[in-house]
Amino acid sequence: MIGSQPAGHQEPAPEQRSGRLSVAALRSAIPGRMWGGKGCGAPCDYCRVLVSPDEIEYEVEARLEAETLMLHFHPRCYDAWRTSRDPPPGEEPAPGK
Ligand SMILES: [Zn+2]
Repeated sequence: MIGSQPAGHQEPAPEQRSGRLSVAALRSAIPGRMWGGKGCGAPCDYCRVLVSPDEIEYEVEARLEAETLMLHFHPRCYDAWRTSRDPPPGEEPAPGK
């Protein structure tokens, strides 16, 4: 039964990710360029709350394995993300000696 059916199979838009990134994936993502702007209606990748259009949103280009992703964060979530993946000097736990 081979027929060319134009409908019935819809491809997701490339921007859409069906699942949110896991915390582990977020931690291993390598931040690249970033932009600040108004919320564009995308949920924050850190707290998963929608960034409303009257809030500032940070868009961060991040590399995860071989992929480049665009992540969206609230400013404070961006800070928390950076802190969680990259402890600031002086605050890292003392290495067990
Ligand atoms: Zn957030």
